[in-house]
Amino acid sequence: MRLVLKPGRDKSLKRRHPWLFSGAIARVEGDPQRGDTVEVLSDSGQPLALAAYSPQSQIRARVWSFDTGRTIDAEFLRARLAGALALRAALPAARHSNALRLVHAESDGLPGLVVDRYDDVLVAQFLSAGAERWREEILDALAELSDCEAVYERSDAEVRALEGLEPRTGFVRGDRRAARCTIVEHGLSFHVDVEQGQKTGFFLDQRDNRQRVRALATGREVLDGFCYTGGFALAALAGGAKRVLALDSSAAALEVARENLAANQLEASRIEFVQADVFAHLRALRDRGARFGLVVLDPPKFAPTAAQAKNAARAYKDINLLAFKLLAPGGLLATFSCSGGVPAELFQSIVAGAAVDAGVAGKILERFAAAADHPVALEFPEGDYLKGLLIARN
Ligand code: SAH
Repeated sequence: MRLVLKPGRDKSLKRRHPWLFSGAIARVEGDPQRGDTVEVLSDSGQPLALAAYSPQSQIRARVWSFDTGRTIDAEFLRARLAGALALRAALPAARHSNALRLVHAESDGLPGLVVDRYDDVLVAQFLSAGAERWREEILDALAELSDCEAVYERSDAEVRALEGLEPRTGFVRGDRRAARCTIVEHGLSFHVDVEQGQKTGFFLDQRDNRQRVRALATGREVLDGFCYTGGFALAALAGGAKRVLALDSSAAALEVARENLAANQLEASRIEFVQADVFAHLRALRDRGARFGLVVLDPPKFAPTAAQAKNAARAYKDINLLAFKLLAPGGLLATFSCSGGVPAELFQSIVAGAAVDAGVAGKILERFAAAADHPVALEFPEGDYLKGLLIARN
């Protein structure tokens, strides 16, 4: 089964970008079904790649291999998984944490597959037709290659619908009645609810940035705008923050955050968790004249794709403007965007605009990205979704 490209539409594949959009395809030969492996040919008949076919998606095929002599089978996938796991095993984080992203989809040559490890449980997401097609083989290989006792499937991300796939969750290998794990990150422990938590349960990509905030928080009044289960807030407290105010709109997340506070030997009187909408609560704090020495903003993905970038820009501008108004002179803002649709330069200009509108000046001291267990393949810049700035107010 083959996909033949339109003339001149082979450029991105030649740069080894793994996505093939529907508009680039001249014709489909054979009758490939969802997830089947197809050979991709240029209009002149040159073999370019082996890819997984996804008839309903705009991303009509995702490349497994640019070596068209390969066979895509269980052995091929096992080797890719082994490579991804070996990369993680060599990371410094593997020595101090029992929670890592083991497979980061396209960046690990496994399009649409995400696997996170939380202690002895793996959480897997099958987010593309190709990953779904090889689900059993992938699960078998994961069970064999990792020493984890159970695999929980969290294939409930919205992107699955774009591939024509239904959501699916539950234990798929091994079993553990309470799908609760305790992980350790830079010496702090966190409960992770792999069944009900957001995404796969925890935001591992911010591991090193939380550690950075911990070092910066000493002696400061800290505001953590989108605290989820307390990641940045507890890191700031552990770093010697004078006080921490942690906000989130999710009652479930705050409940776990309070458990996480109790699970660590931290001074509970110095932290307050409040269920609130950040947009409204920051305004109320501003009206009260509140001031903070360190503000952390790690909002959810406002723009998953470039199409939502405009509305997202508005939201990023609003919260960053309010944050600048709440910063004491000399205060620090650690501000993030995990929106794939908002590139780093755009994010920086939104934040710069927010400072101007807030009437304050600041300087970028550091730039943040996702931790090394979320690598970015050079040929897949879309993998570079998390960006952040550390700004000091004048
Ligand atoms: N910083 C966290 C992860 C944040 S994820 C960590 O290190 O673990 C984004 C969080 O924003 C989620 O917990 C979500 O519940 C929360 N959220 C989304 N919209 C919100 C809003 N308008 N106001 C407050 N919290 C919001």
